[in-house]
Amino acid sequence: MTSTNPIQYVKGVGPRLAEKFAVRGIRTPQDALYFFPKAYQDRRRVVPIRELSPGMTVPVRGKVLSVQGGGRVFRGPRRLEVVIGDGSGRIVGKWFRYHPSLAERFQVGEPVTLCGTVRFFRLLPEMHHPEILSGEEAGDPVHSGRIVPVYPEVEGIPPRILRKIQWEIVRTHADKETECFPTWILEKAGVPPLQESLAAIHFPREDADASMFRTFSSPQQRRLAFGELFSLQWALAERRAGIGREPAVPLPWDREIVGEIKRRLPFELTRAQRRAVNEILKDVGRPHPMHRLLQGDVGSGKTIVAWIAAMVAWRHGVQSAVMAPTEILAEQHYRRFVSLAAGLPVRVDLLSAALPPKEREAARQRIREGETDIAIGTHALIQESVEFSNLALGIIDEQHRFGVLQRAALRQKAKTSPHLLVMTATPIPRTLAIALYGDLDISVIDEMPKGRIPIKTRVVPENGRRQVFEELRRELDRGGRAYVVLPLVEESEKLALRDATRTAERLREAFPDVEVGLLHGRMKAEEKETGMRRFKEGELRILVSTTVVEVGVDVPDATIIVIEHAERFGLSQLHQLRGRVGRGTKPSACYLMVGNEQGEEASARLSVMEQTSDGFRIAEEDLRIRGPGDFAGVRQSGIPDLVFADLVRDAGMLQTAKDVAEELQRKDPDLSESGHEGIRRFLARRPGQPQIDLPSWKQ
Ligand code: ADP
Ligand code: MG
Repeated sequence: MTSTNPIQYVKGVGPRLAEKFAVRGIRTPQDALYFFPKAYQDRRRVVPIRELSPGMTVPVRGKVLSVQGGGRVFRGPRRLEVVIGDGSGRIVGKWFRYHPSLAERFQVGEPVTLCGTVRFFRLLPEMHHPEILSGEEAGDPVHSGRIVPVYPEVEGIPPRILRKIQWEIVRTHADKETECFPTWILEKAGVPPLQESLAAIHFPREDADASMFRTFSSPQQRRLAFGELFSLQWALAERRAGIGREPAVPLPWDREIVGEIKRRLPFELTRAQRRAVNEILKDVGRPHPMHRLLQGDVGSGKTIVAWIAAMVAWRHGVQSAVMAPTEILAEQHYRRFVSLAAGLPVRVDLLSAALPPKEREAARQRIREGETDIAIGTHALIQESVEFSNLALGIIDEQHRFGVLQRAALRQKAKTSPHLLVMTATPIPRTLAIALYGDLDISVIDEMPKGRIPIKTRVVPENGRRQVFEELRRELDRGGRAYVVLPLVEESEKLALRDATRTAERLREAFPDVEVGLLHGRMKAEEKETGMRRFKEGELRILVSTTVVEVGVDVPDATIIVIEHAERFGLSQLHQLRGRVGRGTKPSACYLMVGNEQGEEASARLSVMEQTSDGFRIAEEDLRIRGPGDFAGVRQSGIPDLVFADLVRDAGMLQTAKDVAEELQRKDPDLSESGHEGIRRFLARRPGQPQIDLPSWKQ
C-alpha cells in the first residue's frame, strides 16, 4: 500500500474510522504522518506509588483493590473510583463519567497500569481519567515502556486506538517519505533526514530526551522547523535576488565628494555612523539597486547618514526622495536638510499637503522637471500625480509605518530602479530582523553620539505619584515641558479616550498656570499635528496623549515623560516612548507608573528600563518575554504563523536557513540542478496538509 492510498485500508481503520479522520483533513497515511503529537508522556519507568508527587505524569502499576461505581455524589453524575495498590502505597483512579464498560475493565485482584497526572486529595494520591492499560496492553510497546505520543483529539476515535493506528502507519510509511534536502544542507542545519524525523516525532526512540521532545527542540523536530524556516527565507532570498539583478544608476563616491561632504558636517560621525555610511556608499556605487535597512535607536543619528547618501546622489546630478510618515516629521527633515545644505547649490523641496494648491503644483513641477535635487514629503510623494525627472535614491524614514507596498510604490517613481534606504528607529533583535527583512541588507547604528545625558528612568507605584507631580512642578517652573502618555486600549477606544480626558483634567487642576493639551486616536491627522506643533512651539506645556504621538518628533525642551499603566506596554514600546525626551542638552526623566494591583511582577519586568538605555538589549528582553508574535509590527508583517519553528528558540537555525537559501539562490536560482528537485517539490507543496494542532508548548 502506498502512502497516498485512502487511509481506510490501513490495518485497524476501515470505513467508519476513515470518516472520522477525514473530518480532521486526514485522508491518507501520508496525511497521518503529518498529524503530530501535541504532547508526550514519558512512560519508560513505572513509578512506585510511594514515590509519587503532585504534577508528575507517569505510569503506576498495581493490583486492583476495590472498584466502586455507579453511585451518585450529591445527586451529581455517576462516577467510578478504583483503588490500586502496589505494596508501596495506594492510589485512587477517578472517572467522573461512569460507564459500565469502563468498570468492566477492572477485576479485583488483577494487575492494571494507570497512566496520568498525579494529584493529592486528603493526603492520598489520585489520578483523574487516567489511561488504563490492562492485559496485553500493559506490555505493548505502543502504549508503554516508552515516550508515548499524545495526539490532538480526533472525535470518535479513542486515544489508544488512534495511537495504535499511528503506530501502524509510522511503522509502514515513514520510510517511504523522501527527504527533499540534500545531505549537505541537513548537515549544515544539524538535523536528521525526514524519514527518521517523522518516525521519531511520533514514537521517540528509547534513549530520547523526553524534555526536548516536550519543548519541540529535539533534532528530529528541528528538522521540520528547518523546513519551515527555509521556505520563509527562500521567498525572501528570491525577492532580494530579483532586485539585485535589476539595473540601477551607479553612484560611485570619490575622494572629492566625500571630502566635500566631510568638511560640511556639523559634528564628527560616530564609528557606527561611519560604518553605516561606508556600507551604503558601497551599495549605491554598484549598477544594481541598494536595498538596505538602516536600524538605529531613537537619537542615534540616522538623518545625517541619509543626508550623506543624498549628497552623493546630488553630486551625480540625480534626484533623491525622502519619505516620512507624517507632515511634521517631513517638515523636520526638510528644515534639517536645508540647514545642512546652507551654502551649497542643493535644491531641497518639501512636498506638503499643508501647502496651498498652487505652491504644491509648483513643487510638483520642479520635481518633474529636475529642478529639485532632494524632494521631501509624506506618502504624498508616491501619489500618482508626482513624477520625478531622474529619481535615483529613495529614503524611507520610520519603516514600521510603511509596508512593502510603499517601498514598491516609491521604487516605481523612477525609470530605473532607485537605490533604497529604509530607516527604522525600532531596534529589532537580529533574529527578528532576519525573518522580517530578509530581503533587505541591514546596517545597524548601535552607538549614540557622545555627550548624551542618560534619561533617568524610574518605575513608580501609585503611591509615588505625589513625588512625580512635585518633580513635574519643579521642571515646569524651570521652563520644561512634559509628556503624559496613556495606553491605547484597543478593545475600547472610548475607554481610552475617557481615561485620557480625565487625566488631562486632573493635570489642569494640579497645574492651573500651564496649558495642557490632549491628543488621542479619534482626532484627525491635522488636529493631531496642530496639537503636536503647539507643544513643540511651547504653547502647550503638558501634552497628554494616547500612544499616537510621533516617535521621531524633536522637542528638545521636553524633559519629562510620565507613562501611565506602564505595565500594559511592551518594553520596546516603552523604550520608543522614552526616546521622546532627552533630545536636548538638559537632563531628562521618565516615570513608569504601575497600578498598585499590578505589583511586583510588573515592576520586575519593567526594571530593565531602569537598568539600560540600549534599545537592542531591551528588544531582546522583550522578545524573550513576549515572543515574536507580540513584537511591534510582526503580526502585520506577513510572516506566516510558524508551527514548528520558534524565532526565539531557533535563532541559530534561522540564520542557517538564510545562509542556505542565499547560497542556493546564487548557485542555482531555479533549483534545476540535480539534487535540488526535492527542494523544488517541497517549496511547491501545498502547505499545512492536515489540520495540525499547535504543539502543546505553543498553546
Ligand atoms: P534619529 O536616528 O533618531 O533619526 P537624528 O538623526 O534625529 O536621530 O539625530 C539626533 C540628534 O543627534 C540630532 O540633533 C543630530 O544632529 C545629533 N547627532 C547625530 N549624529 C551626531 C554625532 N555624530 N555627534 C553629535 N551629534 C549628533
Ligand atoms: Mg529620525
